[in-house]
Amino acid sequence: MTAVLVEGGFEIVSLPQDADTIIINTCTFILPAKEESIDEIFRMAELKREGRCRHLVVTGCLPQRYGAILGEEIPEVDLFLGTGEIPRIADLVASLQRKKQPEQRSFIGKPDFLMNSSHSRLLSTPPYTAYLKIAEGCSNHCSYCVIPLVRGKFRSRQMDDILRETETLAQRGVKEIIIAAQETTLYGRDLGYTSGLSPLLREIALIEGIRWIRLLYTYPANLDDELFRTIHDVEKICNYIDIPVQHIDDGILSSMNRKGDSGLIKNVIADARKIIPGVALRTSLIVGFPGETQERFDRLLAFIRETRFDHVGVFEYSREEGTKADALPGHIPESVKELRRGIIMEEQALISREINQSLIGSLTEIVIEEKSDLPGYDYIGRSRRQAPDIDGITYVKAEEKAIGDIVECRVVSADDYDLFAEETAAGC
Ligand code: SF4
Repeated sequence: MTAVLVEGGFEIVSLPQDADTIIINTCTFILPAKEESIDEIFRMAELKREGRCRHLVVTGCLPQRYGAILGEEIPEVDLFLGTGEIPRIADLVASLQRKKQPEQRSFIGKPDFLMNSSHSRLLSTPPYTAYLKIAEGCSNHCSYCVIPLVRGKFRSRQMDDILRETETLAQRGVKEIIIAAQETTLYGRDLGYTSGLSPLLREIALIEGIRWIRLLYTYPANLDDELFRTIHDVEKICNYIDIPVQHIDDGILSSMNRKGDSGLIKNVIADARKIIPGVALRTSLIVGFPGETQERFDRLLAFIRETRFDHVGVFEYSREEGTKADALPGHIPESVKELRRGIIMEEQALISREINQSLIGSLTEIVIEEKSDLPGYDYIGRSRRQAPDIDGITYVKAEEKAIGDIVECRVVSADDYDLFAEETAAGC
């Protein structure tokens, strides 16, 4: 959207107070995301009331899902745009600025937008790293999830188009490509590829300038040995896989409408570890799903203890209207969900500390991200085992470095989530 706006003659400013038009791009995945989006809209509406900006525009998943209600509840907003309207944003904002009163306030059509390399891109991430969206939407229909409603059915981008975009990113100095989609493992199936993701990763790895490739959002039932072998064999692909399993109790997995049972999940994890020794595994879990008895929760806790993931994200089940899970019996009190989330996080902190300590003495590449305030450490960075924002960080002791440099280091110490490392004499 920012690139479309710049091409349309708009200037992007970094502070909302300096903007003539404020655009709030929203999320509607779970309750906390909706609350954050709405809080931000009200915060920006205050600026409009004070006369600090002229127009307020709300885009993305929240209007796609609640367009009509939002229009009534938040009259300060001049324009609501759904998830399919990205290419039109500059024209719609320009027409809003020309007129005092827009004739139409809501533009919410089919959620069918799919990025392609002819769309320009302004990176909001630091210049050495970029997310690469390889597909959009989801056709899985997990019973708790609203994504298929707001982002449409699963559709992959053409492989040559993704590669063109990656080449452009590499030419702009991007070294780390983070592969994203609502579900990455199905990549290409809708285009008729029998195996899409592995060939795509191998092709991306051939692009000069790309140093790390990181894979997020894989679906356990669609993971296979071919993908694991690709990750193992291709040096540029980080030995890191994000496998959101959500739960391990078969009854819960079935009422979540997840493909694959506990046996499948455990086998997939064992295969990943066998084929990619030392692979860092991340997962996401939902606690407090309807019907999660104490016994079923204990099964999840035991699974976390046994499996020893490197990184775990835990979400409290969020009741979303229009989903099948909302109509299930056996909803769990919020206080119990909170308690269960805390229990898993506490357990995981111990596991994560032990895993981090086992890394002391090992050599690792670190991408330098910013200067550090921590005494004795010059920089903060991330290893191949750490994705931005969701995993821990690594404090680095090193000679003068530029942001975005990738440096060979030795891990010297560790805490629950973070590592501490020193540049090796040879550098990188
Ligand atoms: S696979 Fe992910 S995005 Fe798709 S329905 Fe399930 S939770 Fe939602």
